[in-house]
Amino acid sequence: MKSAQATAREVRAGTLSAVGTVQAALSRLDGVSHLNATLHRDDASALEAAASVDRAVAAGADPGPLAGVPVALKDNYCDTGAPCSCGSRILEGYAAPYTATAVQRLRDAGAIVVARTNMDEFAMGSSNENSAYGPVSNPWDTDRVPGGSSGGSAALVAAGVVPIALGSSTGGSVRQPASFTGVVGLKPTYGRISRHGLVAYASSLDVVAPLGRSVEDAALALSVMAGVDPLDATCLDAAVEDYPAAVDRGVDGLRVGLLTEALGEGNQAETTALVREGALHLQEAGAEISEVSLPALSHAIPCYYVLAPAEASSNLARFDGIRYGPREPAEDLASLYKNVRTGRFGPEVKRRILMGTFCLSAGYHDAYYNQALAAQALLKKQLAALFRQVDLLLLPTAPSTAFRKGELVEDPLAMYLSDIYTVTANLTGTPGISVPCGLARGLPVGLQLMAPPLEEARLVAAAGVVEQAVGLLTPPD
Ligand code: GLN
Repeated sequence: MKSAQATAREVRAGTLSAVGTVQAALSRLDGVSHLNATLHRDDASALEAAASVDRAVAAGADPGPLAGVPVALKDNYCDTGAPCSCGSRILEGYAAPYTATAVQRLRDAGAIVVARTNMDEFAMGSSNENSAYGPVSNPWDTDRVPGGSSGGSAALVAAGVVPIALGSSTGGSVRQPASFTGVVGLKPTYGRISRHGLVAYASSLDVVAPLGRSVEDAALALSVMAGVDPLDATCLDAAVEDYPAAVDRGVDGLRVGLLTEALGEGNQAETTALVREGALHLQEAGAEISEVSLPALSHAIPCYYVLAPAEASSNLARFDGIRYGPREPAEDLASLYKNVRTGRFGPEVKRRILMGTFCLSAGYHDAYYNQALAAQALLKKQLAALFRQVDLLLLPTAPSTAFRKGELVEDPLAMYLSDIYTVTANLTGTPGISVPCGLARGLPVGLQLMAPPLEEARLVAAAGVVEQAVGLLTPPD
């Protein structure tokens, strides 16, 4: 599969047909149906959109920096007329009445949507086993999970179907699946990309986030989607840099801090070793490596698993069987709510709503919600202090490689721990990227870099160095 950059360059030059490119992506999609990564596709619309890109080129117009590039969308992005189930039965058959800003910007840049991807229900999960539409398989080993909650998007990028896919990140949902499937996952600064049209999970943590076959592909997607939007009041009005150009900028003179707390016993030994090798690649490219400490990291998971469910319990109150999705037969209003929400939400979503409602309830919110806010403030303070010492932080994306399907399903606390290294970026609003740093027993391992707010260019520059040294990873046939 060609990179997004190369595809767009050739389509814009008129040497590659967008229709041919999209046809090829659709037939690759046919070839990976066993992964269960796709929830919906509309081949006719995709081909029609591609034909209009080709017509524009023929007429001398420029369709944009993603001209003819096939992309996939996680099923929690609204796109006018398309189903948007968020992996849930409560939105079965629901079609969005408007289009998310991020999706519109991809289209305006010439991208062609070829699939809507499977996901953990309402983006709650780390393995994609919480989808109402069945689990997704990891292209590296179909007995294993692709990570979550953007597992379908990660699987399609890893399997070579599309060079770019949209995920969403509330606590790690693009970096962790990127790590498990050997692709790049870029979580931007909170507010860097408009959330308008992304179905809310935990609004203070949610970000639109791309997965890419390479650092450059992810950077290109970011550059197209970033920037102020009047439809999202939390979207930042900050200059958008040329992120793809930053990929080759190097790390000469940058100070990189290896995070001590993330290199210990909780990891698979190979993960720690490969992340340390990644540090050596950065050092050879001129970075200065030191070990640094973030003691509040131990609070990150409990803090996240109070704040995210608390916000989710409020956000998901709108799914009541009246305004969205199907209704269940009921005698009165109260039983309508009950029948719809009991019958159509899956077990993990119910667990989160119960936990979140409990943490916010009178008599408990001081003990849980307010405590979690205090822990979040401490994390922010310690991280800001660290970023006065170093320019980037380096740590694993996840403690282990992709686990087997079913392995952690009965143990939600163990499942939550797979987010231990990713939630901090969401809790502090800072950007992070996962880039492959090698294979351990035949499975990809991701290395994570974190930067101060709005320093995505620095992130992709460092990730580019690691990618140059390690190369792109491709799953066996
Ligand atoms: N795995 C985390 C959770 O279940 C993160 C999910 C996400 O980023 N959407 O909440």
